[in-house]
Formats: sequence, C-alpha cells, structure tokens
Amino acid sequence: MRDAVGGLLIRAGDLLGGRARRGLTVAERSVLAPVFRDGLDLDAIRVVPERAGPLGLNRRPVTLGTTIHLKGRTGPGLLVHEAVHVWQYRRLGARYVLDAIRAQYSRTGYDWRAAGTDRFAALNLEAQAQLVQDLHDDPGLATAYPALVADALASVRSPSTPSTR
Ligand SMILES: [Zn+2]
Repeated sequence: MRDAVGGLLIRAGDLLGGRARRGLTVAERSVLAPVFRDGLDLDAIRVVPERAGPLGLNRRPVTLGTTIHLKGRTGPGLLVHEAVHVWQYRRLGARYVLDAIRAQYSRTGYDWRAAGTDRFAALNLEAQAQLVQDLHDDPGLATAYPALVADALASVRSPSTPSTR
C-alpha cells in the first residue's frame, strides 16, 4: 500500500517536473561525490530547479524518487539533504515517500540530536537527511558525534546491492 501511494506521488512529481528536469551540474556533482562516493549513482539523479505546479505550494524542496525539486532554492547543504532522500529511495523503494512525510511531522522531526542514538539506521528519514546536511555544513560534528557520524558516512557510502536496491 505504501509502495503504491508512494509510486503514484513519484510519477506525479515526474510529470510536473516535465521538461524542466536536468541532470546534475558539474558543481553539484562535486558537492555530492565526496559525500556519497560509491553509495549513490549520481547519473540517475534529476533536478527540477524551479517550482513545478502544485508541488510549489509548499516552499520546502522535495525529492520524489530520483528527482529533486529545488523550488528555486540553492545551496550545497540543501542539495546534500535532498540527495540523502534519493539514497533512501534507492534503499527503501517508493514507500520512503510516505515514511519521509511521516518523519516531518514526528515528535523529533529533523532533530537528529533528539533521537539520542549512535546508529544512523535508528534515525527517522528526515533526521538522517538533516544529519548528513549538517555534517556537510559543519565538519566539526564528526568530532562531537564520532560514532553516529562514522555510521552515517559508512551507510551512505555503502554500494547498494540488489537486495538493498
Ligand atoms: Zn527532507
């Protein structure tokens, strides 16, 4: 069920993105490559730079499947955050869309510190994305939260296999 609804949302997003979709720029690749290394196929990522249709009602960038809707926003940290959602989609399938929406409205939301864990997998999907974004913006977090940061980087850099998508 979650896969079906998530799949519909992803297809709707692709339709709305339409012709405005493009691949990553050289600058964007240079931001993402050192973060994900072999853990994410950057060639598969599409970007819609501006707001597209109803997706523009909410100003926050959104990632549906492998397409990142930036809605006019820019910034390397933000791009890293949305790319984590692509990584999640590759691992979890379409159900990640609904899991991410639920995470937005959860008690801890984007606050990965509040989760009080050393395990990346124990964070909700938005907290995972926010942690990797914050780490990009402030590399000092690796010193302050060594176990969690090490687990996060090992996770996003591990190549996906057929069983993990
Ligand atoms: Zn997010």
